[in-house]
Amino acid sequence: MTNKNYDLLVVGSGIVGLAHAYEAKKRGLSVAIVEQNASCTGASIRNFGFITVSGQSSRDTWRRAVYSAQVWRELASLANIKVLHQGTWIVCQRPEAVEVAKAFLQTPMGVDCKYYPLADYPTLEALGHFNIESLNLKNSLGLLYSPHEFRVESREAIPQLANYFENELGIDFYWETEVLSISGSAIHTSNNGLNAQRIVLCPGSQLTGVAKPFIEKYDLKLCTLQMLRVKVQDGFVLPGSIMTDNSLARYLG
Ligand SMILES: Cc1cc2nc3c(=O)[nH]c(=O)nc-3n(C[C@H](O)[C@H](O)[C@H](O)COP(=O)(O)OP(=O)(O)OC[C@H]3O[C@@H](n4cnc5c(N)ncnc54)[C@H](O)[C@@H]3O)c2cc1C
Repeated sequence: MTNKNYDLLVVGSGIVGLAHAYEAKKRGLSVAIVEQNASCTGASIRNFGFITVSGQSSRDTWRRAVYSAQVWRELASLANIKVLHQGTWIVCQRPEAVEVAKAFLQTPMGVDCKYYPLADYPTLEALGHFNIESLNLKNSLGLLYSPHEFRVESREAIPQLANYFENELGIDFYWETEVLSISGSAIHTSNNGLNAQRIVLCPGSQLTGVAKPFIEKYDLKLCTLQMLRVKVQDGFVLPGSIMTDNSLARYLG
């Protein structure tokens, strides 16, 4: 590796690093991504792969989520990334959840979303949207449907994106290269040095590494998020992503 110059250097090949690299490349900049591992091993390949729009905080966050979903759609088709689920069904089990769902529909974020009361389930089932029995919907009160979401398998999608960026967009990747320190426009890595007009640090949850000097003034703490992979019965197909109404408390929108 030589002391090459770029317009933008991105540290970390997770989804945040890839997003910065993609936006910079679209603007005609020369871009490189430096990743300490042989591929991304961070949260970006361990997550649910859920591209969420409805439920994100209103205004700026929602607007950004709408934009992100558009970018994902564009890239999924270019990089041959399989979209596994389209749309989200939120199962309202409590009367409060029905109220929240209906109130959400009155906001600008409710565009194209729809609430289906219990009485509509047989019609939805007949249209092949889902099977009431297998989803255990008998005791629910209604369903809020949002068409905006989709889900990809992150373990496949992230390497596919990186491949596409490297081979089709001409973004340089320096794999197995740890960024040790940054001074001005230079970054020092475990292999050699690189220079750039701008450097973007996207090291994920590594609070003590190269990002430490920039983030230590914030009181950041890591939290945990549990994930469970279930083995479904043969032939069982989800109609889209399914969320319980507990999610209504988690998502600010
Ligand atoms: C269980 C779980 C489920 C989730 N589900 C979803 C979901 O469905 N939808 C959603 O939108 N979000 C979800 N999230 C959140 C999402 O995964 C993260 O917000 C996102 O992946 C963070 O991406 P990142 O690029 O910041 O970090 P990461 O993916 O962690 O990438 C950081 C990269 O930087 C590299 N790096 C770090 N330091 C250096 C260095 N010094 N030199 C070189 N490389 C370095 C690391 O090796 C790593 O590859 C979930 C998170 C978890 C934990």
